[in-house]
Amino acid sequence: MLMRPDSKTQERDFLLEITRAITAQLDLSEVLRRVLHASVVMLAGRVGLVALRDEHDDMFYVRAYSGITSDHVPALNEKLFELMDGKSNDGFSREFLNKKLREMADTIDTKLEQSVAMPLVFAQNPLGLLIVFRSYQTTITADDLTTLQSFADQAAIAVHNAQMYGHINEERQRLAAILDNSGDGVFILDPDLTFQQVNRAFERMTGWLTEDVIGLPKEAVIIWDKLDSKDLESALKDGWLTHYQKPDRIDTLYVEGDLQRPDGVTISIGITYAPLLTADGRLASIIANVRDITNFRKAQEMQSVFISTIHHELRTPIAIIKGYASTLSRDDVEWDSQVIRDNMIIIEEEADRLTTLVEDLLTASKIQAEREVKLNLEYVQLELLSARSVGRLEGQSHHNIVLSFPDNFPIIQGDEARLRQVIDNLLTNAIKYSPNGKKITVGGRFNDKNVTVFVRDEGDGIPADKIDKVFDRFYRIDDTMTRKTQGTGLGLYLVKAIIDAHHGEISVKSHVGHGSTFYFTIPRD
Ligand code: ADP
Repeated sequence: MLMRPDSKTQERDFLLEITRAITAQLDLSEVLRRVLHASVVMLAGRVGLVALRDEHDDMFYVRAYSGITSDHVPALNEKLFELMDGKSNDGFSREFLNKKLREMADTIDTKLEQSVAMPLVFAQNPLGLLIVFRSYQTTITADDLTTLQSFADQAAIAVHNAQMYGHINEERQRLAAILDNSGDGVFILDPDLTFQQVNRAFERMTGWLTEDVIGLPKEAVIIWDKLDSKDLESALKDGWLTHYQKPDRIDTLYVEGDLQRPDGVTISIGITYAPLLTADGRLASIIANVRDITNFRKAQEMQSVFISTIHHELRTPIAIIKGYASTLSRDDVEWDSQVIRDNMIIIEEEADRLTTLVEDLLTASKIQAEREVKLNLEYVQLELLSARSVGRLEGQSHHNIVLSFPDNFPIIQGDEARLRQVIDNLLTNAIKYSPNGKKITVGGRFNDKNVTVFVRDEGDGIPADKIDKVFDRFYRIDDTMTRKTQGTGLGLYLVKAIIDAHHGEISVKSHVGHGSTFYFTIPRD
């Protein structure tokens, strides 16, 4: 029996110190260092070590040591590896364990005579080994073992805590990564509806930064320009969370509307709220998933514009064709040949209009599907194409159309049929959207790199806030001039797609009341 008379007090002091270290959540190596120090002192040993089982490969590695230098650690790990290797289903035999402990002692110092080992076990789960080496042989008493056991138990608690903390941390990091990489915006509210957490998608979507938003009340951040359903606050007032008998039956709450961002931009969003309840059914937080539905809404709007435009644009020529055809086919009237010819011209024109419309629709949906226009490249004289367009369209207009191209206007490579479509479209618009009698100029200019063709009119012009939109699919300005003319809002969309395919640029300058000029520029090579 090696303990001094006051050893029980000392043991208690050590245990108290270790428990304090554990409850103060000191880091694991510090707790193990204290356990080891206490074990070596109490067992009057010279050297000690703690080996822990690695959760990934199930092997034991030295994690703390006292009286050993770090150069010994690899060799000791090797011995621990052999020890585990010799383990059968019923553990290892005492002789085998003693043999390996002897080898370990020799690895450290041949003068070490005796070793006492104690497993670290938590909830029947082996977590490691605590070993104390002595420099002399003596009996290992039951007291020795009890002392070592109590230290090993403390070490096992510390290791278990550290492992659990590690698991929780890993899980927290995994959740944070999922949250941060989610394409949907997420925010978490406290029960008093203040912001607890937001993810990156939320920052991107709403323009709010995490550091500015945390701690703010919900209504300071989620500011609705227009709300299409009941908001969270009124749903809570109406008993969203209290109407349910069982908390797991609570439905999520969906709120949709136009959100005002801090930069003044408005976006359409849908928020799904889900409560997170504590084990005793109290509200811990509210988790909200935010989806940007601006594009979805735009597509819906476009679809309805598309349907009404097509409906109108198809019906008008069909009605005209039907009207003229049925007039001509009346049995009770003898039409003279001039009337028949005039009516047939109208029927032909309307049929042409239908063909153009159908072709435009097909091209537009092809662009939509393939995301580009395919070109048949050849040498193109834009000046000649423009003159032909003017020749074709001036007969149908009451405008003064002039051509203004400099000499030696360069030939470029492009798709002639498509470029004709571009010029026809711009010229048709100039005719449609400027009053009769006004001047329209189709002209060009060039430099070493590009050629530019422009179509200038003296119409009402385009308001500045609408200029970018005129190239959108199905977009028509809501003004009297546009309402008076037929159109699908596809012309400029196709023009832009064709010029983009030529790696060119399209632009427009316009002064309300003074007219508009559309330019397209195409590279010369
Ligand atoms: P559409 O002429 O079939 O309506 P476009 O795509 O060619 O469609 O033009 C889109 C809209 O841009 C037109 O509806 C019209 O409101 C406006 N716009 C186009 N060209 C002009 C122009 N030269 N002057 C004024 N407004 C124009």
